[in-house]
Amino acid sequence: MQAPSLGGVQVPRGSGTTPVRLRRGSSLNDFADKIDANPASLVTVLFHLGEMVTATQSLDEDMFGTLAAELGYVIEMVSAEEEDRELLGAFDIDLDAELADEDDSQLKARPPVVTVMGHVDHGKTKLLDAIRQTDVVAGEAGGITQHIGAYQVRTVHEGVDRAVTFIDTPGHEAFTAMRARGAQVTDIAILVVAADDGVMPQTIEALNHAQAAGVPIVVAVNKVDKEGANPDKIRQQLTEYNLVAEEYGGDTMFVNVSAKQNLGIDQLLEAVLLTADASLDLRANPDKAARGVAIEANLDKGRGAVATVLVQQGTLKVGDAIVAGTAHGRVRAMFDEHGGSVLEAGPARPVMVLGLASVPGAGDTILVAPDERTARQIAEKREAAQRAALLAKRRKRISLEDFTQALQQGKVETLNLVLKGDVSGAVEALEDSLLKIDVGEEVELRVIHRGVGDITQNDVNLATVDNAIIIGFNVKFGERVEDLADREGVDVRFYPVIYQAIDDVESALKGMLKPEYEEVQLGTAEVREVFRSSKFGNVAGSLVRTGQIVRNSKARVLRKGVVVGDNLTVESLKRFKNDATEVREGYECGIGLGSFNDVEIDDVIETFEMREKPRK
Ligand code: GDP
Repeated sequence: MQAPSLGGVQVPRGSGTTPVRLRRGSSLNDFADKIDANPASLVTVLFHLGEMVTATQSLDEDMFGTLAAELGYVIEMVSAEEEDRELLGAFDIDLDAELADEDDSQLKARPPVVTVMGHVDHGKTKLLDAIRQTDVVAGEAGGITQHIGAYQVRTVHEGVDRAVTFIDTPGHEAFTAMRARGAQVTDIAILVVAADDGVMPQTIEALNHAQAAGVPIVVAVNKVDKEGANPDKIRQQLTEYNLVAEEYGGDTMFVNVSAKQNLGIDQLLEAVLLTADASLDLRANPDKAARGVAIEANLDKGRGAVATVLVQQGTLKVGDAIVAGTAHGRVRAMFDEHGGSVLEAGPARPVMVLGLASVPGAGDTILVAPDERTARQIAEKREAAQRAALLAKRRKRISLEDFTQALQQGKVETLNLVLKGDVSGAVEALEDSLLKIDVGEEVELRVIHRGVGDITQNDVNLATVDNAIIIGFNVKFGERVEDLADREGVDVRFYPVIYQAIDDVESALKGMLKPEYEEVQLGTAEVREVFRSSKFGNVAGSLVRTGQIVRNSKARVLRKGVVVGDNLTVESLKRFKNDATEVREGYECGIGLGSFNDVEIDDVIETFEMREKPRK
């Protein structure tokens, strides 16, 4: 059905309830595709609704909603997770069905995965170290554990040798960042509270995060060795937050520990296992292709992309084709936290994985694909989806009035950036901070590409096309890349610390702002006589009253306080018969104002110049 719409354009209309499914980050082109319309006509419709957009620009849900309501459609935005599920579905991978189809006989008990949280300085790091040291296996392997982002320890619990996996990045920030990416990694949270300090703001934050995620909590009351430690007070304080100790009739286990003196660590592990057994059904099917999460990832000079993977289901094997977020590859080798080579890793086992072609983000899901080609295709499709979603997120909207005005004044400017860093966390942190810089609406900051590793030719090419600046954080040029950047005139900046990068970008943004000018008065002169000159037009014989009169400066003429001539220029300036560049207060001169011949005796000539206003 065609019907006239706003602006007289023809657009196929919906019934009022006709659904249109759109991915986040879609553009008018995508919408036009779905309803079989001409994208240009949708641009026109939106224009009449007060929104100025281009056909290729990603729009948010609100804007699609407005457009859809106008045209008789209902927008269904597909979330990133749903979209990814659909994407995997196209490759015959259905993670939900996979889980639903598993029967009890396939499920084997797996170790709990634990995150340590709590207020700063309450001893999270120390506790993680103490727990690591209790591990007998570590001792046998030479005692040196490497930090790979997670580790597993073994303990004898009720006569049975049991394993517990610890996420080795303390704090709820890491926990929350992973959750934000949809990765539920933690089964149990250890809440560390220093017995000499008590419940603090981050204690409560951590507690809230754990409770929001539905993760059971074991409380480690730390630093009991310290003078003034009052472990019972902690128990009391926490009852206010629904954490009631077993001794008080509740169901939360509290364990007194000293991370420093290695006291109570075994009891803490015991409590973790008891809590896991009492409230969780920790089982997984080890006999299938692995599914997991990337805990940490970085680029290693010799080994390439290195990712610590927590296997959640199935078994990861050397030789497997894997996809980790938008990265793909084949598992070339795996290592455990003692640096020992591992051939297979089952549920809840953290392993360092070599063989990915690029570096995944922390919290990215990892799965084994049937073959390398499929792995690559999934990664590529995800990357495309991510780019689209990112564009939608990054676009800072301005209203039609702002836009038109800004456009007329030539004020629309975009600073494009390519961000590279040594670890994905740093790149994300940098990007977040940069996008938080407040420079008003005149300038737009756009991160067109980000990644881990040295600056590559591809980065420079991207920067060339989009006229971007490259920011390198703790990285350098790849081979032959510097020449290319020089040739293409791409600005590449390296920083060892994040805040310097932020500072520089902020100033760049300020420099890029179109300068604002202000009028600065230079001088005034009173007209005493008017000379007619065939060559210069009328010349005003004047006395400089204030400041100075400068040749080529801007001028206006006032008569009895009223402006009679504006936008003029001091085109000629003479002192007696001679040309002068400036004439000072108290001196006489002849001023020629070009084509403005209307000067009269007693007029005042005001001269000024436009100066750039410094930005604050
Ligand atoms: P985090 O910020 O929570 O990771 O805290 P840390 O593990 O860095 O510990 C903060 C400080 O408390 C350090 O100086 C530790 O040596 C000290 N500390 C940690 N645990 C204990 C403990 O059980 N007893 C004592 N006396 N000091 C501790």
